[in-house]
Amino acid sequence: MPAPAVMWFRRDLRLGDNPALAAAVHAGPVLPLFVVDPALWEPAGPARRGYLSRSLSALDADLRKRGGRLVVRHGDPAEVLPRVAGEAGAESVHVAADHGPYGRARDEQVAAALAEDRIALERTGSPYAVAPGEVLTRQGTGYQVFTPFFRAWAEHGWPPPVEPPGRVSWCEVAGDPLPSASPPDGLQLPDAGERAAHRAWRTFLDRVEEYDEGRDRPAVETSHMSVHLKWGEIHPRTLLADLSSGGPGAASYRRQLAWREFFADVLWHHPETARTYLRPGFAAMEHDEPGDAFRAWTKGRTGFPIVDAGMRQLRATGWMHNRVRMVVASFLVKDLHVEWQHGARHFMRWLVDGDLASNQHNWQWVAGCGADAAPYFRIFNPTTQARRFDPDGAYVRTWVPELRGLDASHVHEPVRAPGGPPDGYPAAIVDHDVERREALARLDRVRRGSRHTDNEHRKRA
Ligand code: FAD
Repeated sequence: MPAPAVMWFRRDLRLGDNPALAAAVHAGPVLPLFVVDPALWEPAGPARRGYLSRSLSALDADLRKRGGRLVVRHGDPAEVLPRVAGEAGAESVHVAADHGPYGRARDEQVAAALAEDRIALERTGSPYAVAPGEVLTRQGTGYQVFTPFFRAWAEHGWPPPVEPPGRVSWCEVAGDPLPSASPPDGLQLPDAGERAAHRAWRTFLDRVEEYDEGRDRPAVETSHMSVHLKWGEIHPRTLLADLSSGGPGAASYRRQLAWREFFADVLWHHPETARTYLRPGFAAMEHDEPGDAFRAWTKGRTGFPIVDAGMRQLRATGWMHNRVRMVVASFLVKDLHVEWQHGARHFMRWLVDGDLASNQHNWQWVAGCGADAAPYFRIFNPTTQARRFDPDGAYVRTWVPELRGLDASHVHEPVRAPGGPPDGYPAAIVDHDVERREALARLDRVRRGSRHTDNEHRKRA
């Protein structure tokens, strides 16, 4: 009888298309384990804690249907893993590799702790179609611009989905209760778990060919797969396999999935950019401290309807449409002059799909200091964006009830409505044209500063 193997679930809360689970099944009877790590649990925020609790219950229910049970333990993984492996008599612990800065360091510590007991930490697969670090330029470096990355990524390719395990011999040790974090009142979270992920995906696939045309319009539903991808309830390989025979809508969706892979790759090459600037020259930009205007932004009370709609959607559902994420992020950085990290932190607190690589690098992309060929001086005008992408105002009316009585010509600029903005809706907290000029002036000072620095370098050389 082979020794048991621990399957340590992290961001891969599924049984299907799971190469790490397949490797554990191949090694011996499987002990399915989830470790509630206080270093991740505490900062996860109410939306992700609530969602994770439900996703773990769904995984446990799926395991029970197959005769197993999810063992949950709380604590530092470097202590928990050797203890659980020892109790089970396991000789290997199986995981999908984690490529984030915290996960990489944690896994090194866990591997070292397990090695003391001659137990191997086996990494099989990753949460990506192509693992971060695998797509390289001819010079052997990572890409910093999306389009060439996308070409190289598509050329690199990925394996087909892995068959779900057949009959598995499960084993268990004593565990703690499943975490049961209820989301705060009023926060509506999507259904969690592998089945919910597949259901949502199948529903979306029926209209994937409308995706290319509709994806920028916040009143049109996108796939909402980000939360399922975040927790690994479905793997991008599965999605890409289903998209392989599609038309322009499927191609457009594949390209969006590649953004997720791109940002994970950028973070893998530059782990420090979870906190700091990918383009360090921008750290010299003058910013304003977050104060009343920042608080108005977090509450959706800026007087800019599309910004307010997005921020309220975030607080009500833990999710926001991509186009609106760009608009609200641009507003914070370029109209309110608040440094991107403050906004990124607020997003990470409330997003149910909050993902370090996608979040921090989208924020840097919008702020103009990240992986982007587009310049800082492209500044979104929130009213123009709203008119273009929410032309009849349906999205704004959904999330800003005060504006429901306004027609399409006034809903994005209530100040121009006959009789002024409706009662209870705030006046605009800034003048966009003034703040746009201010943002450009600050940019100019940074550039002159960096030219100055470049000249100093040249003189020194
Ligand atoms: P769809 O439009 O259906 O897209 C399909 C999938 O493609 C998404 O699930 C996602 O995996 C990927 N994708 C699409 N656009 C992007 C993008 N710009 N960057 C990376 N992946 C993308 N996405 C997250 O998953 N987590 C985050 O924390 C996150 N923070 C963001 C912060 C800002 C400021 C911005 C501008 C974008 C952020 N995004 C983040 C990217 C994007 O907004 C979401 O992935 C998308 O809105 C999720 O909804 P969906 O699954 O319906 O997307």
